[in-house]
Amino acid sequence: MAQGIPDKIMSNTALIKDLANVAKDAALLQGVLMRIHETPNSSELVTYAPFTLFPTPVPKAVFLQALAVQTHYNTLVDKISQDPGFLEEALASTIAVDDFTARLFRIHQQILKEGRSQSIVLGLNRSDYMLDQGEDGSSSLKQIEINTFAASFGGLASRTPDVHRHVLKVAGKLEESRRILDNNPAAGLAKAVAKAWELYGSERAVVMFLVEEGQRNIFDQRYIENELWKRNISTVRKRFDDVTKTGSLDQDKRLFVDDQEVAVVYFRNGYMPENYISEKTWDARLLMERSLAVKCPDISTHLAGTKKVQQVLASPGVLEKFFPDQPQVVEQIRATFTGLYTLDMGPEGEKTVAMALAAPDRFVLKPQREGGGNNIYGSEICQVLQGVKESTERTAYILMDKIHPTPVQNYLLRRDGPLKISNCLSELGVFGTYVRKGKDMVMNECAGHLLRTKSSEHSDGGVAAGVAVLDNPLLV
Ligand code: ADP
Ligand code: MG
Repeated sequence: MAQGIPDKIMSNTALIKDLANVAKDAALLQGVLMRIHETPNSSELVTYAPFTLFPTPVPKAVFLQALAVQTHYNTLVDKISQDPGFLEEALASTIAVDDFTARLFRIHQQILKEGRSQSIVLGLNRSDYMLDQGEDGSSSLKQIEINTFAASFGGLASRTPDVHRHVLKVAGKLEESRRILDNNPAAGLAKAVAKAWELYGSERAVVMFLVEEGQRNIFDQRYIENELWKRNISTVRKRFDDVTKTGSLDQDKRLFVDDQEVAVVYFRNGYMPENYISEKTWDARLLMERSLAVKCPDISTHLAGTKKVQQVLASPGVLEKFFPDQPQVVEQIRATFTGLYTLDMGPEGEKTVAMALAAPDRFVLKPQREGGGNNIYGSEICQVLQGVKESTERTAYILMDKIHPTPVQNYLLRRDGPLKISNCLSELGVFGTYVRKGKDMVMNECAGHLLRTKSSEHSDGGVAAGVAVLDNPLLV
């Protein structure tokens, strides 16, 4: 393991067993928690959120590169969200065949037609990367995707550094333990929410976390809630159903849910088609979008985070349109792009199809979905493309180069999981926050990081999907 944990520790079974127990207790003590699968809505039984026994080596230069580009990504997302012409053109082929994106797009258009009632915008993003391994052993930062909706694990990631520090100390690795970085996305995310709340300007109004039906990952959100309570900002947790039953707008379009005025709606649910169980759920989304409450994200920022938009951004000249006088910003962002290819009808899309069919292992085929487990790999790419290649259905997908990070050995600790050494791949996320009021960017910050690691057996899937686990970078 390059500059990581020496083999004599990694292969010492008795020591690893002891360290795993130490690590799990440390995670429980630090509050790296999740509710259990069986009872997602009860805190009577909780467990540690899955995590790695050891931190993972990450080259310092690429880590700093990821932090440095974040505020530019924030600006980019925000600019896209304010460019209806761009969104319409970028998403035209996709919304013709993808019902979910089309539905979101219709809300976006309706809001544009009615006029946005709130000029304050709150963005809490997470840009995710893998470090692509070059033939010379170098690694380059390549973006997997940007999440503009419900980017999670900022709360728990604020508590994992102390867990790894402790494990390393017990393992006799004091020097490495000192190299684990502080990280506090919970505070950073809350700072931006607090700013939006303050600009909304009503002491009585609350921050509403719009949460899932099954709330296994509640503690991740509680950290952000607690940071807001520390600032004497009230938070409430509501589901779509609560909004359906009790939500209303007054004559000034102020949003009330259960008789409380809502200053900020922070969506932690609503990014998957399954989240919209009926027309009433869609009505609730529309009600919130129409309201004076600050939405995180608003509907246009939600659309700015689609995979189709990501692909269009990689086309020649597109970034330049958003940053006409800032070639160095364009360069900084573009350096993090890997190959992204359109499947739109026409010669370019034909080329993409042929390329993917000829070498499917080089690519990932992605539909417009979030939450892990939706992407298509290897021979399945051929199966799917053979089925849709002659029809517009193919435009529901984008094609992307597969990124190859260097595998690193580690132990993945999860409840009921066997303690065994795994070949692992990591994904680095960087949190970005911004608040805009009208034309003024009043805040634009990088708010910390998240490292997630999974066994290389799995091509896809995040922590919530039960595949990846929480980790920390050990800068080398
Ligand atoms: P989701 O919105 O479901 O999180 P992602 O684009 O983040 O979709 O993909 C899910 C997972 O698939 C990632 O966490 C990563 O493990 C893997 N993945 C996605 N794109 C690539 C890629 N280009 N190369 C290698 N792995 C990828
Ligand atoms: Mg992802």
